[in-house]
Amino acid sequence: MSPPGPRSAAARRHSFIVLHAYEETNMAQPMHPGGRRRFIRLAVSGFVAAPFALATGPARAVDTVPESDPTAAALGYKIDATKAAGRTDKAATCASCNFYSGKAGTADGPCSVFAGRLVSAKGWCSAYAKKG
Ligand code: SF4
Repeated sequence: MSPPGPRSAAARRHSFIVLHAYEETNMAQPMHPGGRRRFIRLAVSGFVAAPFALATGPARAVDTVPESDPTAAALGYKIDATKAAGRTDKAATCASCNFYSGKAGTADGPCSVFAGRLVSAKGWCSAYAKKG
């Protein structure tokens, strides 16, 4: 079995660490031929799984802005724009705001006012600026 595609530096580092941790814990005992084969199978499956773990990690790291966030509260941010007291334009929502970079049709997206944290597409705050 040959390894799939080019490996990332993180995946190579992961395999290196796994290999050396295994060698250090087993240096006093000669490796059984079946044990080596089993280890190689585990190492290969580990380096196949590592890129998926790395690819999904950052997505989980982005958090959603709650209304209780101090900046959100100061800007009167509401997840549901219809509940925002200072909103005069009834069509104004985060989805049509210049600071919003979420994809059309998604429930939330990054807002640059909140350093890229997620805001509701149907939300609103007093920093609203209509997309030009
Ligand atoms: S700045 Fe715009 S996108 Fe960000 S929370 Fe306020 S209204 Fe929504």
